[in-house]
Amino acid sequence: MSEILFQDLGISREVLKAVEGLGFEKPSPIQASAIPVLLEGHDVVGQSQTGSGKTAAFAIPAIEICDPKDRSVQVLILCPTRELATQVADEVHKLAAHKHGIHAVPIYGGASYERQFYELKKGVQIVIGTPGRIMDHLERGTLVLSSVKMVILDEADRMLDMGFRDDIEKILRSTPEERQTVFFSATVSKPIREMINRHSRDPKSVKIDQKELTVPTVEQWYYEVPQRMKFEALQRLVDFHGFKLGIVFCNTQRMVDELADQLVAQGFSADRLHGGISQAQRTRVMDKFKKAEFEFLVATDVAGRGIDVDELELVVNYDLPYDVEDYVHRIGRTGRAGRKGMAITFVTGRDIYKIQHIERFTRTKISRGKLPTAYEVEERRVEGLLIDVRARLGKGNLSTSLVDRLLEEGYSSTDLCAALFDLLGGGEPVEEPKPVSKAVSATQKKNAGSHQLRPPSRGMQWVELNVGRELRVSPRDIIALLEDSLGLPSRVVGIIDIAPGASFAQVPKEYLDVLRDGPRMVETEVKPVEISLVPLMSPGDSKKQRKS
Ligand code: ADP
Ligand code: MG
Repeated sequence: MSEILFQDLGISREVLKAVEGLGFEKPSPIQASAIPVLLEGHDVVGQSQTGSGKTAAFAIPAIEICDPKDRSVQVLILCPTRELATQVADEVHKLAAHKHGIHAVPIYGGASYERQFYELKKGVQIVIGTPGRIMDHLERGTLVLSSVKMVILDEADRMLDMGFRDDIEKILRSTPEERQTVFFSATVSKPIREMINRHSRDPKSVKIDQKELTVPTVEQWYYEVPQRMKFEALQRLVDFHGFKLGIVFCNTQRMVDELADQLVAQGFSADRLHGGISQAQRTRVMDKFKKAEFEFLVATDVAGRGIDVDELELVVNYDLPYDVEDYVHRIGRTGRAGRKGMAITFVTGRDIYKIQHIERFTRTKISRGKLPTAYEVEERRVEGLLIDVRARLGKGNLSTSLVDRLLEEGYSSTDLCAALFDLLGGGEPVEEPKPVSKAVSATQKKNAGSHQLRPPSRGMQWVELNVGRELRVSPRDIIALLEDSLGLPSRVVGIIDIAPGASFAQVPKEYLDVLRDGPRMVETEVKPVEISLVPLMSPGDSKKQRKS
């Protein structure tokens, strides 16, 4: 996509400042194409999809051609609905914020005439309105269009569909013939083409087609997350998957700053990259990121463009890009050199259709993901901790001098371990968020001495061994037994729970086919051990009771 900047478009300093204030980093394709043509004074027929930034594409030139010293109406913008008129007026106000003496007013039905009379009488250069109410004011003589230099029809196709054709024709005839006429429309149907032919001179067509794009082979997921939940969602996904190196894309510099600060405040190592940062500083940040000196880079599209880091595991679209090409550029940062990568996109409610749009144009599937619950995240973390501890134990050669010291001081080894886990943040029992069924079943009551198992983690299943604390079995024994007898690869056994008379361990389901037909007996030095499957719980039976 274009590397054109707003500075390249011939825009005044005041408007550039406003654009920066809005956080727009670079022009969207329709803006890059339409703004210069409009500033040259041509009539334009602009076509691009929703959300591609058409408002600024016409609002910026509209503001630029106004003479602040002349208080007559110089630009008329027609919109199909009052909501759109308000939105466009808001954006015009923001873009004109540093242009002194430029005033804009929305004029639409349903609002008080008094206020509109007052505003119009005071003198405004830009009027944004719906065709019906504009006609009203014209007929009352409260709106005079004889000094108009530019008329913009935003969403022209919709206005025609809504039956505004006659009003629009009359309005256009009330403006000077030498005006500039601008049509923006998602489609150019025959009636629109006819209107264009009648009311414009040698119009330039500015059409942004979405190209078909090829996408790298990365796993693509989207999550429906409201804006205020995005940070929580990001944290959960990072914790759950244990991502260590990723880029998070935002649409504005302000959002980049906000998110980078938030990540750092939460203890992640993160840095930022956007167009508002000096080139020297950007280079420094890039170099550090390439050396994986911090985990998460928060960036805008422009700044993220040159990034190529082979080990990158994750790209997050914290904000949905407004352009399919940007989506492809963004997710292309991962999955490089044939490595695995994951692309995660957050989407808020009404933007969901944009996901389908991206899917269509990229001809790839973006799967809908469900956020892991806080409980699942916590369980993953504990599991990881246990795996690490077991790996350490497996390596042997551990120095015991500190342990001995504490043992000599009289602490039990159990308390000692508990204290160390506590230090590691894994000492707390994992609480399930909501027990599905509160009622205790009859069998549960009967089995006073039974053992409670929490639901297994995703993809895992509990297996039971009929040896336990009475024989002083250790997690290491359990792992060795399971690996040997079930032929498990190393380090796949998850949480282990040793009770009196029985032990339980979580094993990935894919390794448990050998137990589906019944328990397996294993001879050991002490006694024959039976290994069996704990049946998967049915929904609603969240806590399984096992006799021990
Ligand atoms: P359209 O009229 O084409 O449907 P809009 O003008 O309503 O699109 O713009 C869609 C969204 O994109 C708005 O929230 C707008 O603020 C934002 N936007 C527009 N231009 C840019 C830009 N250059 N950079 C970032 N965001 C932009
Ligand atoms: Mg629009």
